[in-house]
Formats: sequence, C-alpha cells, structure tokens
Amino acid sequence: MDFSLADILAARAAIRGHADDTPFIPSPFMEARTGHAFLLKLENTQPIGAFKLRGALNAVMSLPADCAGVICCSTGNHGRGVAYAAAQRGIRAVVCMSELVPQAKVDGIRALGAEVRIGGRSQDAAWAESRRLAEAEALVEISPFDDPAVIAGQGTIGFEMMAARPDLHTVLVPLSGGGLAAGVAVAVKSVNPRVRVVGVSMDRGAAMHASIAAGRPVEIEEVPSLADSLGGGIGLDNRYTFALCRDHLDDIVLVSEEEVYHAMQVLYYEDRIVAEGACVVGLAAILSGKVAAGGATGTIVTGRNLDMGVFTRIMCGEDVDLGDRIVKGRPYGA
Ligand SMILES: *Cc1c(COP(=O)(O)O)cnc(C)c1O
Repeated sequence: MDFSLADILAARAAIRGHADDTPFIPSPFMEARTGHAFLLKLENTQPIGAFKLRGALNAVMSLPADCAGVICCSTGNHGRGVAYAAAQRGIRAVVCMSELVPQAKVDGIRALGAEVRIGGRSQDAAWAESRRLAEAEALVEISPFDDPAVIAGQGTIGFEMMAARPDLHTVLVPLSGGGLAAGVAVAVKSVNPRVRVVGVSMDRGAAMHASIAAGRPVEIEEVPSLADSLGGGIGLDNRYTFALCRDHLDDIVLVSEEEVYHAMQVLYYEDRIVAEGACVVGLAAILSGKVAAGGATGTIVTGRNLDMGVFTRIMCGEDVDLGDRIVKGRPYGA
C-alpha cells in the first residue's frame, strides 16, 4: 500500500487547530525505574478525551463538499470522535448502537451532536443497521482504524513525538485495530528508521498479534478486559492496518490484566493521571520487564473515557469482576 509521511503531514495540516499538539511530558517515576528519559503523550487531553479525534477529523475533513453526512457504529472513542469531527465541519453524524449499550454512552454521543440510532440487541445488528442507513441516506461510513485517512490522522501523534524529542529510542503504542500503531510507526520511522516501535496489547483477545502470527487476518474471541478500548477484531477483510503493522512494527508485546491493573495505579499515584486501561499497556510492558528501555522512551496515554466506578476500585486496591474472571486487587505500594 502506498502510504507515507506525506499523508501524515497532510493530515497534520487538515486537523490543525482542532486536535493537535498535545503535551508530551516526562514521568519522573518511570525515568527513575528505567534509567532513561520516559515521556507520556497526553491524548487524554483532547476535546473528546481520546486520540481517535485525530483520525476522525482527518477523515471527515477530506470528504467532498457535497457529502450528506457520516455514519459509524462505535459506542466508544471512535463514535465520540466522529460525532465531534462532523460537528466541527457542520455535517450530519449518525452513530448506530445496539439496545444493550449503557444510557451514559448514548447520552455522551448525543451531547457531541450526533444522532443515535438504536438497532437490535447485538453489535452485529447495529452494524447491519448502519450498513442499511449508509446506503439509504447516502452517508459515508468511517472505519475506526482501517481507513488511510484515519491512519494518517493517528500518525500525526508519532510525528509530534519525534518533533518534540528527536532523541527517542523506543516508542510503545497501545494496539487494537492498528490504526494508531500503523500511523505512528510510519511517522516515527520516516523521521528516524532506527527508532524501535513496539505495539502492546492485552494477552486475552489480541487480534493483531494473532493475525500477524498466522500471516493473515484471523478472528479471535473477544473477552472483557480492563483495557476495553483495545478489544475487538481487525476484520477478516482488513485492507490496510494488518500489512502496515506487520511491516512497520518491530515487535508486539502482550500484557496481563494484573499488569494493566498495576500500571493504572502507577499512572495515577505517580503521575496523577486518570486514564483508561488501554493507555497504560506501554507502562505495563516496561514495569513487567517484557520490554527493556534501551534509551529515551515515549508512550501514548490514549484516552480517559473510563468507568469511574472501576477506576476507583482499582485505586483502592479492590478486586475487579470482569464478568468471566476476577482481577485480584492489591493496594498500591503494598
Ligand atoms: C481505539 C483505541 C486504542 C487502539 O487504537 P487502534 O487504532 O484500534 O489500534 C487505544 N486506546 C484507546 C483509548 C482507544 O480508544
């Protein structure tokens, strides 16, 4: 696929002023632990609380002038990004969801200006409804990761990290569908091919890891995780992110729920940051010894849209019931 730094620089110009230049701040605790500079790219400070705004904005801004509107069926950060981006451009956004989605998420997306369509009792039914509506109402569907405009938007993060810290040795990227990792890896390696870029997923339901191991996109069972934004497949008909992640990531590392739990405590108690489980997988990879920091290291705090009840339990060291298993708690520092 023909995808390069030029696409990422074009995205940078397209989203400027809406979703760029988040802080990239040092973590003194992680620096003491690793003996190297350690920096956190704060995408939790974006207007929607997550980096997905970058890709969604770039996709929405690059649509033709006569576009009727956009549609997606994400109930998470992508849905929020698409809603916000469409409002910025002044076009219609529709987000399809199943009846099972909690009211708080429905309200959150509506508050960002999108229309919510409830269809069926499963994610698949919502998906079918979004396909039907896209066709019937001439709406453009925006993928959460497998779209060159989305990948280029996420890649602007890698460019900003390299611009701020040309001395980076390693970049740790939370990895799910791979839009973020693909964009960041291409940006970082275009600036300096010697920088190591490592994708990090949770050890249960890591679709990109399983797909690269199999040599083709595969489906794996989705299970509940503290890093819930990293759940979901890469699509059996994946067109872009599979090949880009396979070709540009140096490695993919998996971390356990216990390691995510502990890293969330570290980010909160040491750096005073409230963030989703998905954000701390880079820290978890270092703290567990699965990745050695060979020099200045950067990771991305991808978002802050989490259940505060679960967050509070973790900060208090309590057990967390994921539904199919319990993550054993431990007070921080005990
Ligand atoms: C979507 C998301 C990710 C993973 O991004 P992909 O492009 O799907 O790999 C990580 N963290 C958060 C908070 C997200 O919303």
